[in-house]
Amino acid sequence: MTTTVHNLIDGQWVGDPQAERRNPARPDELVSVAPSSGTDAVDAALVAAGQAQRAWAATPAPARGAVLLDAADLLRSRQADVARDLVREEGKTLAEGMGEVRRAIDVLRYFGSQGWRHGGDVLPSAVPGTTVFTRAEPIGVAALITPWNFPIAIPAWKMAPALISGNAVVLKPAELTPVSATHLAAALTDAGLPGGVLNVVHGKGSVVGDALARDPRVGALSFTGSTAVGLGLHELLHARRARVQLEMGGKNAYLVLDDADPVAAARVVAAGAFGLTGQACTATSPVYCTPGIHDAFVAALAKEAEGFVPGDGLDPATTMGPVVSEAQLATDVAAVERARQQGATVVAGGAEPERQLFAPTVLTGVAHDADVVRKEVFGPVVAVIEVADYDEGLARVNDSDYGLTAGICTGSLAAAHHFAEHAAVGVVKVNRPTSGLDLNVPFGGVKDSSSNTFREQGPTATEFYTWSKTVYLGFE
Ligand code: ADP
Repeated sequence: MTTTVHNLIDGQWVGDPQAERRNPARPDELVSVAPSSGTDAVDAALVAAGQAQRAWAATPAPARGAVLLDAADLLRSRQADVARDLVREEGKTLAEGMGEVRRAIDVLRYFGSQGWRHGGDVLPSAVPGTTVFTRAEPIGVAALITPWNFPIAIPAWKMAPALISGNAVVLKPAELTPVSATHLAAALTDAGLPGGVLNVVHGKGSVVGDALARDPRVGALSFTGSTAVGLGLHELLHARRARVQLEMGGKNAYLVLDDADPVAAARVVAAGAFGLTGQACTATSPVYCTPGIHDAFVAALAKEAEGFVPGDGLDPATTMGPVVSEAQLATDVAAVERARQQGATVVAGGAEPERQLFAPTVLTGVAHDADVVRKEVFGPVVAVIEVADYDEGLARVNDSDYGLTAGICTGSLAAAHHFAEHAAVGVVKVNRPTSGLDLNVPFGGVKDSSSNTFREQGPTATEFYTWSKTVYLGFE
């Protein structure tokens, strides 16, 4: 079945669908046709958002929250269908797709219930007969630009804190995955979100995304995607002193120490490196091993890699979905070929281009300055490198342009604590995969991974979408 996708502007589903998206597992299956909008649609969305925002902000926060909670219930009732569509357009396994839709539901529930506590703080004043309180004021109109790899969860985790804080939103989803975002928007409109409070404009990043970034009516822009695009957006938003939140690329290094169990460590690394077909900004690579565990770990990781069953995500036997696009497949192939030229040995894995698959790939013998170690691949490719000891491992982990997540496998509390303190990343994992995040804690990185200003998710996510006004109330 082909879904006809429309823009959502001022509560109406509009726009001529032109851009085709095919199932990465079955290229003859047309999944959707979506608008490739121009700047006129961006303008219409911003007019609608500007008009709707005031009344939305004036709606009591618990009533705003009730809309999010009702949308969560609707999405829950539609979860299986939404997950299938997500798998068909993006290529995850069905289990991963169900989990991602579940994440969107939980995000709506989490921020929906925040409606009961959203507002500000009451503080003592030094002035007699006076109370001081703060008000969390909405920014106004927030633009959200999202990638294809979590096509419903990322729009949800940006949108929910923006909406509960009283903002109106214009979302520009990734071109490859218009259907998942449409399901999210439909759940919210069906739950009674007033027209214009959420607008969705499909189209190219260089057209729709760029127009949103340049428009002074956008007071805050939250972006997840590549570092190159993110840094360009940063310049634009910074120049007009608008808020910008960027979550960009990552190289998520892991350190495996001699005292770890090689099989358990291989499971942790495999989950982080190969889950979601390695198409996550938190995907593990490289892995640094101390000498006593290196060989046993490589053998165990190769075994883990060979245990995956790549295929169509809707096939129950599949444990790794296809690569999202031919372009991404070419990037994965080129990355491994370049690693080989730079001296790597391929211990497991490789491409199966006829089915747009890329089996979990393990590389050894890689130099620390090889491209596969330093540059993001966005595929299931992990490089394992031996280091002399913990100190060298930590130094290698931190010698990166990126700083999103990093992990350590060890039984030593001292090593774990030292690593947690000294790893130059936004998220540290001890004996857990670098990918996989709880929704109730902050997420973000440092260096080229993030604007490192406001964190996403968790109780502080609303800070990006609000500004604090301080009120002195004299009562005597
Ligand atoms: P990826 O390589 O993961 O697709 P991109 O950074 O290219 O990462 O895309 C992430 C999101 O940013 C997508 O929604 C895309 O359309 C959008 N985008 C791409 N280029 C621009 C741009 N110049 N301005 C604004 N948004 C853009």
